[in-house]
Amino acid sequence: MIRKSVKSLCERFPETYWQETDEREEYPTSFVQALTDEGWLSVLIPEQYGGAGLGMTEASIVLEEINRSGGNAGACHAQMYTMGAILRHGSEEQKQRFLPKIASGEARLQAFGITEPTAGSDTTSIETFAQKEGEKYIVNGQKIWTSRAEHSDLMLLLARTTPKETVTKKTDGLSLFILDMKEQRDKITIRPIDTMINHATTEVFFENAEIPVENLIGEEGKGFKYVLSGMNAERILIASESVGDGLYFIDRSVQYANERVVFNRPIGKNQGVQFPIAKAFMEIEAAKLMRDRAAELFDEGVNCGAEANMAKYLTSEATWNAGNAAMDTYGGYGFAKEYNIERKFREARLFKVAPIANNLVLSFVGQHVLGLPRSY
Ligand SMILES: Cc1cc2nc3c(=O)[nH]c(=O)nc-3n(C[C@H](O)[C@H](O)[C@H](O)COP(=O)(O)OP(=O)(O)OC[C@H]3O[C@@H](n4cnc5c(N)ncnc54)[C@H](O)[C@@H]3O)c2cc1C
Repeated sequence: MIRKSVKSLCERFPETYWQETDEREEYPTSFVQALTDEGWLSVLIPEQYGGAGLGMTEASIVLEEINRSGGNAGACHAQMYTMGAILRHGSEEQKQRFLPKIASGEARLQAFGITEPTAGSDTTSIETFAQKEGEKYIVNGQKIWTSRAEHSDLMLLLARTTPKETVTKKTDGLSLFILDMKEQRDKITIRPIDTMINHATTEVFFENAEIPVENLIGEEGKGFKYVLSGMNAERILIASESVGDGLYFIDRSVQYANERVVFNRPIGKNQGVQFPIAKAFMEIEAAKLMRDRAAELFDEGVNCGAEANMAKYLTSEATWNAGNAAMDTYGGYGFAKEYNIERKFREARLFKVAPIANNLVLSFVGQHVLGLPRSY
């Protein structure tokens, strides 16, 4: 039922819509509004706070279908996992203050400020600092790759509240906040980054931006732990978008390979064309099982760090192979914007790098799953 409903919503936004938003580098506002209006972006928010109260499995299906339709859920996926920080670690007062507004679309929590230019993948080295002064925190510093910052009212922000040099464990002294970007607009500078895909991604500079103490999530200094717990959700949801992209490539490749006639026969008759598509399809189906397993464990409340990371790795690699198979199947036409393969090819490439680079997933599995020495 979810697949069918999301698919039918997506049919209102054909590939020409995505082509145009990509070419003009526009934010897909009408699509995000439609998803919000139909409640798909708030499926993970419990019913008591205005959402659908569904699980990770259902949320995964929503994102998978968007990307399989030719769309790009990256424009709006973030609030599905950023709101989890409030849900799991926020106070009851914070849940009541924020979640119903996020569910209705009145307050968009689409900006997630973690990555910084100098720290990169080494999150504990971030330098943006939130200094407590009475009843508020004063934030100074810079984030990079903060997607959707211009299209968000709130930001889930990770900042240091104790310098790295003075904590015993480097993961201590980081805190998680809800920053009201609208209210602090004059103390925040947002600079769009020109990228190869349309992700509305930006650099964000904070100059004495203020956050009231009641917007600190959980305990001061424990933010890294909260972010980690949310990352499993992020990995599973991103893996789902990747699955959607992969199946998009397969759908299109099969169709084209059956229709395109060269040497008086459909190109799909050639094993050189057919086998890479079949191989990529099998890889996607296998990776999808890992995504399903991770989502199932998440919904059971069981730690799924290993499965969520493996799902993100396996889906992004399988989809990349499917993207290459599609490019080969389409031959020269794969490069023509009109066919959308090149756009999807660019979009699918992201998941090998973000939200975590695949090398870091390999390090995680080597060290934390297999018990090998830390590689860095
Ligand atoms: C379009 C886009 C949107 C994004 N949106 C957001 C967002 O909304 N919010 C946010 O906070 N971030 C966002 N990011 C940032 C993203 O999460 C980071 O780009 C990613 O985590 C990698 O960090 P980095 O770019 O600093 O790479 P680096 O950390 O500099 O790494 C560069 C390369 O070195 C490799 N490497 C580094 N260290 C090791 C090691 N120890 N072992 C092996 N290999 C290593 C990495 O695998 C990678 O290949 C986004 C990025 C992009 C491109």
